[in-house]
Amino acid sequence: MDVILKGKYIVKCKIKAVTGLHIGEGNNSLEIGGIDNAVVKDAEGKPYIPGSSLKGKMRSLMEFAEGKVKDELLVVTKGERDGTSGIHIHICGDEDCVVCGLFGRNHGKHKLKNGEERDFTDAVLPTRLIVRDAKLIKKSITDKMKENLDLEWTEVKFENNIDRITSKANPRQSERVPAGAEFEAEFVVNRLKVDGEDDGDLYIKKLIQAMRLLEDDYLGGQGTRGNGKVQFVDIKIFYKDRDAYFTQKQPQVIAEAAALKNLQF
Ligand SMILES: [Zn+2]
Repeated sequence: MDVILKGKYIVKCKIKAVTGLHIGEGNNSLEIGGIDNAVVKDAEGKPYIPGSSLKGKMRSLMEFAEGKVKDELLVVTKGERDGTSGIHIHICGDEDCVVCGLFGRNHGKHKLKNGEERDFTDAVLPTRLIVRDAKLIKKSITDKMKENLDLEWTEVKFENNIDRITSKANPRQSERVPAGAEFEAEFVVNRLKVDGEDDGDLYIKKLIQAMRLLEDDYLGGQGTRGNGKVQFVDIKIFYKDRDAYFTQKQPQVIAEAAALKNLQF
């Protein structure tokens, strides 16, 4: 295999929470005086969107859109330690698969849903897409918004589960980032030439499709119950040729738009 880096597409934009946003810590342990369902926060205590959450969600939406969610195309990822409980995701050995080409493949052996073992090592290439953690833009949470918040940057919502027989309510707290909050996001798509075949703009276009799919879906938890609608705004796409890393050549802006729906690309 012969792989050369041709250049990098860099997408800089903001992610705006149109509704409240709940990206959980994945750790529901109850701290004393803490919230029982907290959002993930950085070292300064500010909520952020982990690149892994964004990438994972966009990958799953692309898998559905590209027709990859089929028994024979799903692998079971290993459980935490014992390998018993895993989740089904798509990974394949097809070198032309745009989902695996953009979001990457894991090395090593995989178990298919039907129990068969597969090894995709021959198809493993450098992952084209890099998704940075998206930091909260502090000033997007205005003083006016802060008046209505329960905590410094977030609100706490109560959700009720009602027992169908006793009618007893079982309230549960859930922390979320308020609607209107904005995050600084960055995506990098590596343009490769693999065995003489240049990616061209195939994968940057696929990334934009994934962003469009996400706008009509949701990010984080409780998305079917009102959370997680996001929009991509103030978008700029740069192209940095491989040569730009060896010279003073500045990256070119190749597309920009105030909102994703206006992006001509
Ligand atoms: Zn694939």
